[in-house]
Amino acid sequence: MYRDRIALSYMLVTALLLLLLFVFIYFLVSARVYKYIDHQLDAVALKHLNEVAPDKEILSFYNKAEWEEREHQVADVNPVFITLYDSTGEVADKSPNLKQEHLKLRQMQELPLYYNTVFNQQAIRQVQVPVKYNGQTAGYLAAAMSTEGYLMVLRSLLQILIISYPLTLLILFFLARYLAGKSIQPIRDIILQMSSIRQDTLNLRIIEPETNDELQQLSSSINALLNRIEQGFLREKQFTADAAHQLKTPLAVLKGSLEVLLRKPRGNEEYQQKIVESVEEIDRMWLTVEQLLMLARVDGKQHQVNLAEVSLIEMIDNVIQRFSRKIQQRGMRIRFEPETDFVTTTDPFLMDIVLENLISNAIKYSFESGEIEIKIIQQPEGPLLSIADEGIGIAEPDLERIFDPFYRSEPFGHPAVKGDGLGLSIVRRACRLLSIQPVIQSKQGAGTKVLLQFSVKP
Ligand code: ATP
Ligand code: MG
Repeated sequence: MYRDRIALSYMLVTALLLLLLFVFIYFLVSARVYKYIDHQLDAVALKHLNEVAPDKEILSFYNKAEWEEREHQVADVNPVFITLYDSTGEVADKSPNLKQEHLKLRQMQELPLYYNTVFNQQAIRQVQVPVKYNGQTAGYLAAAMSTEGYLMVLRSLLQILIISYPLTLLILFFLARYLAGKSIQPIRDIILQMSSIRQDTLNLRIIEPETNDELQQLSSSINALLNRIEQGFLREKQFTADAAHQLKTPLAVLKGSLEVLLRKPRGNEEYQQKIVESVEEIDRMWLTVEQLLMLARVDGKQHQVNLAEVSLIEMIDNVIQRFSRKIQQRGMRIRFEPETDFVTTTDPFLMDIVLENLISNAIKYSFESGEIEIKIIQQPEGPLLSIADEGIGIAEPDLERIFDPFYRSEPFGHPAVKGDGLGLSIVRRACRLLSIQPVIQSKQGAGTKVLLQFSVKP
């Protein structure tokens, strides 16, 4: 679960930090405690250094009587033990509370020395300082006090820290898990809402939170994706319906003709005429099916673009050649007089489809004996091809829709011109594969101009 992973990684970091903090606390407190004890020992040592007197060359304390008296009157909770040594390290004198024992001298050195040791089976902290007399080291003084009480406090601090460590981590883990769970709840909501969106409920959308953060971005991009999917789905549906309709019309005509023939016997001539009409309808259907197949073929992933160096002039001449009979029949003229050749890198198969459809449209939508002008202009970015006719033109509002499959502008205005409205949608898809943006400029009644800008590097 994502929330457990968040909580766990948070925990690992916290565990490390907490450990560092606890270790730091423990050492800080224990350092403070020892500093406090050392401070006390210093004061005691200083006080007794002032009470040391050399008595016939032997070091001794001159207030011993006072000590003994005090010992009988007050019970010292944390007594201080004192031992005095001569310059050879032999015990010279000591506090009466030591009875038969004495503190041990660890080292004979000039600097004060602090250390923990054991005396009479109890932990003590001891300081030893040199005793100076007339600028000479006359002996050493050791002062010590029991640290049992302090150690107990430190031990219980350690215990508390050790117990509270896993406990704190456990509490933090559940807290982090709860908070992580709470913060990913909106994502769970989104998942829940998305799981209810199916093909038949593609119109549903996710509720976008007004939080102005990544969650809102996520929801709005999911909704945008759903919009695109829904639109694509509707387009696909529309396309299938249009394709079926386009095939149904000639089929209906065909069926009608044949049924009329079946109703009663006819003359030979009538049969012949109906059959010719039927074949024409079948040809139309054939053409439509071929266009549909072509459309599927140039649809993105289906077609592998095969680039080759081609001569644009040669390709255009070829297409014009194919339409020569039609051009002649309509008494039209195509003006194409390029001065230099234009070689460009493109997919010859796709380019041929594009040129054929554009020139076919220019011929189809021209008036009788109209003129078509094809020009290639060398631009800095590559050759620019323009195919201009003086035909019926396209109404302004239709311009943006003529690339849609099956869309024909004002088909009833020119009923004699047949077509499926698939040509330009094939052109658009082929151009997309070739990275060309076809531009159509047109004025109703005046003519149409199609521009294709080739780039040097496709
Ligand atoms: P198809 O090409 O499938 O046989 P079509 O020519 O009707 O049929 P498209 O080539 O896609 O379909 O063209 C779509 C519409 O754009 C046409 O129906 C026509 O109204 C308009 N159109 C295209 N080219 C021209 C043009 N050169 N002059 C006037 N109108 C045009
Ligand atoms: Mg066409």
